[in-house]
Amino acid sequence: MNPNFLQTPIAYLKGVGPNRAETLKSELGVHTYGDLLQLYPNRYLDKTQYYKINQLKDSGADVQIVGKIVHLKTVEQKRGKRLVATFADDTGKMELVWFRGYKWIRENIKINEPYVVFGRVNRFGNIFSMPHPEMELLKNHERGLKIAMQPIYPSTEKLAAKGITNRVISKLQQQLLLESRGQFEETLPSIILQELQLLPKSEALLHIHFPKDQESLAKAKFRLKFEELFFVQLQLISKKIIRKQKIKGFPFEKVGHLFNTFFSEHLPFELTKAQKRVIKEIRADLGSNAQMNRLLQGDVGSGKTIVALMSMLLAIDNGFQTCLMAPTEILANQHYNGLKELLGKMDVSIELLTGSTKKSTRKTIHERLENGSLDILVGTHAVLEEKVRFKSLGLAIVDEQHRFGVAQRSKLWKKGASHPSPDKGEVGGAVPPHILVMTATPIPRTLAMSLYGDLDISIIDELPPGRKPIKTVHRYDSNRLKVFHFLREEIKKGRQVYIVYPLIQESEALDYKDLMDGYESISREFPMPDYQISIVHGRMKAEDKDYEMTRFVKGETQLMVATTVIEVGVNVPNASVMVIESAERFGLSQLHQLRGRVGRGAEQSYCVLMTGNKLSDDARTRLQTMVRTNDGFEIAEVDLKLRGPGDLMGTQQSGLLNLKIADIVKDNQILKTARHHALRLLKEDPKMEKPEHLPVRKHYAKMVKDKAIWGYIS
Ligand code: ADP
Ligand code: MG
Repeated sequence: MNPNFLQTPIAYLKGVGPNRAETLKSELGVHTYGDLLQLYPNRYLDKTQYYKINQLKDSGADVQIVGKIVHLKTVEQKRGKRLVATFADDTGKMELVWFRGYKWIRENIKINEPYVVFGRVNRFGNIFSMPHPEMELLKNHERGLKIAMQPIYPSTEKLAAKGITNRVISKLQQQLLLESRGQFEETLPSIILQELQLLPKSEALLHIHFPKDQESLAKAKFRLKFEELFFVQLQLISKKIIRKQKIKGFPFEKVGHLFNTFFSEHLPFELTKAQKRVIKEIRADLGSNAQMNRLLQGDVGSGKTIVALMSMLLAIDNGFQTCLMAPTEILANQHYNGLKELLGKMDVSIELLTGSTKKSTRKTIHERLENGSLDILVGTHAVLEEKVRFKSLGLAIVDEQHRFGVAQRSKLWKKGASHPSPDKGEVGGAVPPHILVMTATPIPRTLAMSLYGDLDISIIDELPPGRKPIKTVHRYDSNRLKVFHFLREEIKKGRQVYIVYPLIQESEALDYKDLMDGYESISREFPMPDYQISIVHGRMKAEDKDYEMTRFVKGETQLMVATTVIEVGVNVPNASVMVIESAERFGLSQLHQLRGRVGRGAEQSYCVLMTGNKLSDDARTRLQTMVRTNDGFEIAEVDLKLRGPGDLMGTQQSGLLNLKIADIVKDNQILKTARHHALRLLKEDPKMEKPEHLPVRKHYAKMVKDKAIWGYIS
């Protein structure tokens, strides 16, 4: 085959032409023969199988059933009529339904004669029904040609309008296979093909578009999914190897005075086993010559801050500066105050830089960063500004990473500016700081390794001792008075309460109104002077927010009415109740984050999820999950199943979202296998030079060239 065959512009394919080519490009992203070949069917109509009525599932799938029409009736409804046939086989009964064209059906249909019907089934109560079925008398059907599985390709309205129907696409695929003589270059080494008994590439492509039966389809799918995931893993793993070899980091050789003093004299509690393990992992990274790029996962309240601090002390002990970035001003503030308190009288300088830092203070901070007299900078995005330059940034920590993009992470890399060690022949410049990103949005373990191939991962999987699990309940708006009563009881005991309203960008004005209405009704229910209420939302000035927040932190107010600005990180151990309004509108990870604001003290804490009566199935699942468990990893698993991986951090960059056929959630098992084989291959042959790896190297090079695989942080 001509090696450039797959790059041939789609317009050249017989049956396409310039007009259709345009439509294929704009609607399906199909520019070349190769693109068309990779336009895989979404689903297949299986006309090789016959179902019995009692085997039907509520799956929305198209099925084929043999039976007889035993009864036919017309049902009058508000708008028009419908024709309903009772269709039976030896296992049960179902309905066939027509909303139009029923006159013809009525006149032509044969009662009590065996038919084959084909179509999509829906369930209404206990009755399955098939609207507008394809029908054929069994005796004709048996005489006719048996069609195999029919592929259904993605379609759009515009495609349909331009006459590019499913049949047309299927024809084009046929034409393509014809022109290529069905021969496509193998991309996997024969040893993997043998070991996993994979179909050769050419066969897989044939069967994905024209499967004979379920079995050949399953094999084709497996082969193509494996291949796709294998190459993504190959990319991730080789990047990591390159990073470790090429990207030098500053070796923090000693565990010095500050770290030791803090550990022996200032540590306010005993570290959990998990915290100790993670600190060890970080120390090992920092002590090596390679740059650390580590993700620290730990549920809310698992104690990531202390790990961050101890890592920072390591940096300072080795003569470096360090910074900690948080996504909101409130959180940066809290980190700043918390760290200052933890550091106590130790000789470490620390400053806070946010959008609302005064100009004069800002100037001093800039100077002290540049002359190296400032050890720790805590801040928001403000830290990333051009003007902020460090003399010797050795370690950058990002808290709650999911709020930061990769672009921002890469800005941090460059802040490393220079810290030359002349004795090692370095002249400054290119050494990036070590990077630790911390997140409380756990990614299911199984997935994390494969997703973030270029990051190392540490997990704090243990909460500090003595925490009481938070009790979570779901209440309907109609029970609001009871909930208020409960809040009064808790406040009487000296506790504090959060009441959180959703704030979603698209409907900001409306949400804002909800919040204000809520605030008003809460002010009525909890009147002054017995009750004091704080309110915090995104439209307030930073200083007003801080003022309100501080009153709550100090215990001067008992209720905090807020939007999700308090979602991340805020630590008020005396707050023991979290009420989440319109909880059905929040995502699972957000609900879990919010709940994590309570349960930080010794008292029993509660989370109340308030909703209206109307709930979607997904919303119900989210609420039930929250009520059932406090385990962030379990919640993350459910979230992943509900929403898919689209929102997980880093997935945009990993290339794992642009998959053509595999699904990292559903195909997790294949992903693991692919990862295993990719690791093995690279271990054995890091540059893919061995002749038996030639197919892999060729395909890999092509994918990198086509940017089918994403580029590294630039
Ligand atoms: P997160 O991981 O959510 O950032 P924090 O670092 O804010 O958690 O810690 C939550 C709370 O737990 C803080 O009040 C902190 O002082 C406390 N804490 C952390 N580690 C321990 C520990 N090992 N023993 C007891 N309390 C701890
Ligand atoms: Mg935190």
